Amino acid sequence: MKNSPGLAQAGEAGNPQPQVNLSRDPAARVAALEALLIAKGYVDPQAVDAIIETYRDEVGPRYGARVVARAWTEPDFRQWLLRDGTAAIASMGYTGRQGEHMTVLENTPEVHNVVVCTLCSCYPWAVLGLPPVWYKSPAYRSRVVIDPRAVLAEFGTRLPADTRIKVWDSTAEMRYLVLPMQPQASLGLDARALEDWVPRNAMIGTAVAAAPGVAA
Ligand code: FE
Repeated sequence: MKNSPGLAQAGEAGNPQPQVNLSRDPAARVAALEALLIAKGYVDPQAVDAIIETYRDEVGPRYGARVVARAWTEPDFRQWLLRDGTAAIASMGYTGRQGEHMTVLENTPEVHNVVVCTLCSCYPWAVLGLPPVWYKSPAYRSRVVIDPRAVLAEFGTRLPADTRIKVWDSTAEMRYLVLPMQPQASLGLDARALEDWVPRNAMIGTAVAAAPGVAA
């Protein structure tokens, strides 16, 4: 078999082994891995593209905003969502990859929740689409657990000093969705209008809910 970039033939009969000095260019490493998986018949490149396009273009963070807006306007749904996030979210039709086990974290004046995946980039695709680049960055993943208040400030999110910040580490088994506090100025709006008050980052915890056009 022909060598793929970043991989060397070594060891037993044709089994590619990783080189010690892998390229530091992530694009080259991804291309090498992709080439190997396609060559071995493990993945169909068109199927991978279709999955990426679905979560990037169709899901996005809009589904999550609908969940939040409904929780703000329907107390019974809110209770269900906090008790069994997976079932409540699935009842709205938002299920699938990386959304099988959902826990919803309620922000209050006392506690603000923020989500990370320290190991890699686990993220609730079913309600938020694909993760933003910063969510996958080593800087965010390492720093938010050490000094979450400073990291939130860099996002422009300054919380009262007496609000406790809880950091939740996503895994392959558990994904989190933050239920932000509803802004006072939005009280009385219907669920459809409220969706626009829920920016993606508010559902990760690096922002708070805000009037449309105000939040990042
Ligand atoms: Fe991960």
